Amino acid sequence: MKAAPFAYARPTSPLDVVAELAAAQTHGEAKIIAGGQSLMPVLAMRMGRPTTLVDVTRVEAWQQIEAGEHVRIGAAVPQRAVERRRDLRVPLLSRALPWIGHREIRSRGTVCGSLAHADPASELPAVALTLGARFCVRGPKGDKELAAGEFFRGAMTTALQPGEVLQYVDFPRARPGQGFGFAEIARRHGDFALVGITTMVESENGRVRRARIGAFGVADRPRVIDVTDAVAHLLSGELQRADVSRVADALTEAADSLVTTGGDRHASAAYRRRLVRVLGGRELIAAAQHSRKGTR
Ligand SMILES: Cc1cc2nc3c(=O)[nH]c(=O)nc-3n(C[C@H](O)[C@H](O)[C@H](O)COP(=O)(O)OP(=O)(O)OC[C@H]3O[C@@H](n4cnc5c(N)ncnc54)[C@H](O)[C@@H]3O)c2cc1C
Repeated sequence: MKAAPFAYARPTSPLDVVAELAAAQTHGEAKIIAGGQSLMPVLAMRMGRPTTLVDVTRVEAWQQIEAGEHVRIGAAVPQRAVERRRDLRVPLLSRALPWIGHREIRSRGTVCGSLAHADPASELPAVALTLGARFCVRGPKGDKELAAGEFFRGAMTTALQPGEVLQYVDFPRARPGQGFGFAEIARRHGDFALVGITTMVESENGRVRRARIGAFGVADRPRVIDVTDAVAHLLSGELQRADVSRVADALTEAADSLVTTGGDRHASAAYRRRLVRVLGGRELIAAAQHSRKGTR
C-alpha cells in the first residue's frame, strides 16, 4: 500500500515548527516527521492518515549534540551520529544504540523520534528512564521540561500533546563511581527486544550507594526499580550466604514487578520474568564491578 496524500512542511526554526503544527491543525491532523523510520511504515499501511507532515530535520538548532554538563541531543540528530561519538561519557546510551535495528535505520532514525514514538520494546526510552534524562518540549504555550518518568505514559503514548514537539533530550554524563550494564535478547539481531535490561550502580569506598534495574519489552512502557538495599553488600568482598540470597530474592521480586505483559506469540510472561532475573543479575554485577573500577 501507499500512504494517503499529505501536505509537507520543512521549517528551519523552532518557532516555525510550532507555527506549522498549529496552522495544520486548524484543518486536519498534523504529525512531526524526523527520520521516518517508524512513521513511514505506519503511513504506508494507512494505520495513520495525517493531513500534514512537519519535518524537523532542517532545524539547525536541533541538529546539534552538545556535550557540557549533560549531553543534549536535538530533535534532528540521527541515532548513528550519537553512536559514532566516543567523547560523550554516557556509557549506557553508547551500549544501547548499536542494538537498535540496523545501521541504515540508525542513520536516519533520530534519538528524539525513538523517544517520542515510545515503543515499549525500544532501547532508548529505557536508557532515558534509567539515567533520569530530561525532556524539553516546545508547544504553543512555550517550553516545558519533563522527567523521563513523566514523559512515558503507555504503549506508544507520551506526555506530548497535539502541537508540541520534543526539542531535545538531556542525558546526564557518567560520574566517577558509576557503572552500567545493558543486555538484550531478540530473535535476530536488529529485531525489537523480547526483553532488554539496563542497570546502573553507584558505589563509594567499596559500598553500593544506589542501584537500579530497568527493563523494556516487559510492559506497556519501560520500567525501572530501585534495588539498592538488596545489593548494598555486593562489593564487600566477603559475601555471606544471606547477602547472596537477598540479591536472589530481590531479582525474583524485580522480575515479578517489572514484567506486567501477559505474554505473546514470541515469549510467555514466565520466560520474560526468567530473562529479567538472569540478565538483571548478570548486568547488576557487571555494573557494580564497573562502578568500583571507574565509570563504564
Ligand atoms: C526494520 C526496523 C527495525 C527497527 N528496530 C528497532 C529496534 O530494534 N529498536 C528501536 O528502538 N527502534 C527500532 N526501529 C525504529 C527506529 O529506531 C526509529 O528510528 C525510531 O523509532 C523513530 O525515530 P524516527 O526519527 O525515525 O521517527 P519518525 O518515524 O519520523 O517518527 C516516529 C513518531 O515520533 C514522532 N516524532 C518524531 N520526532 C518527534 C519529535 N522531535 N517530537 C515529537 N514527536 C516526534 C512522529 O510524529 C511519529 O509519531 C526499527 C525500525 C525499522 C524500520
